[in-house]
Amino acid sequence: MAGTARTALVVSAHSADFVWRAGGAIALHAEAGVAVTVICLSYGERGESAKLWRQEGMTLERVKTERRKEAEAAAAHLGVADIQFWDLGDYPIALTQDSLFRLVDVYRALHPQFVLTHSERDIYNHDHPAVTDFAQHARIVAQAHGHNPGQKVLGAPPVFLFEPHQPEQCGWKPDVLLDITAVWAKKRAAIECMAGQEHLWEYYTRVGQQRGAQAARNSDRKVVWGEGYQAVFPHVVERLG
Ligand SMILES: [Zn+2]
Repeated sequence: MAGTARTALVVSAHSADFVWRAGGAIALHAEAGVAVTVICLSYGERGESAKLWRQEGMTLERVKTERRKEAEAAAAHLGVADIQFWDLGDYPIALTQDSLFRLVDVYRALHPQFVLTHSERDIYNHDHPAVTDFAQHARIVAQAHGHNPGQKVLGAPPVFLFEPHQPEQCGWKPDVLLDITAVWAKKRAAIECMAGQEHLWEYYTRVGQQRGAQAARNSDRKVVWGEGYQAVFPHVVERLG
């Protein structure tokens, strides 16, 4: 992965978040030849698997197995190059120092062109902002010259924050609208892999339509489907137009 390969890193708290929030970006860049790594820090087995828990005799291990299968199937639709499941638990997620350094190693192995992770606030879900802090902390450690000297230090990949479930309540405001019209069919196919959260399929289809309409209004493009992101750092550009 090192060297001239184009890579991107997606850090997802639970095993379905990358689908709702970044499936379009993943498919779009995968089609363009970017090797996208998705890290699911947990399966969302306790907090984001309500439908599975309603089945008779369900166990934690069976929920994890189902969620993993769903996420792998979704990742295949999106063209993910590498999906990893770290099984750190959820509600609450256990973000240990060992796992922080493990993520630092991923940054230094990939040197991603960009990073996607959760919003900085989420009053409905404390795992999500904990993961945002974790992903950014690992990025900063990967930039530190004194950490594992001899390795190539990470540059400054831009970080874009996922749209949370209720953006207004989380202080999240998109400043990037991505045109995902060309890959919407892949995102919808990935969404439909998430059998454990079928109640969200139409919700995130509406979100895609809304962001698409807003992207069209903010450009001269015929955008139908979109994804919103909030950039953490200033955009560094060579020209303004
Ligand atoms: Zn989640």
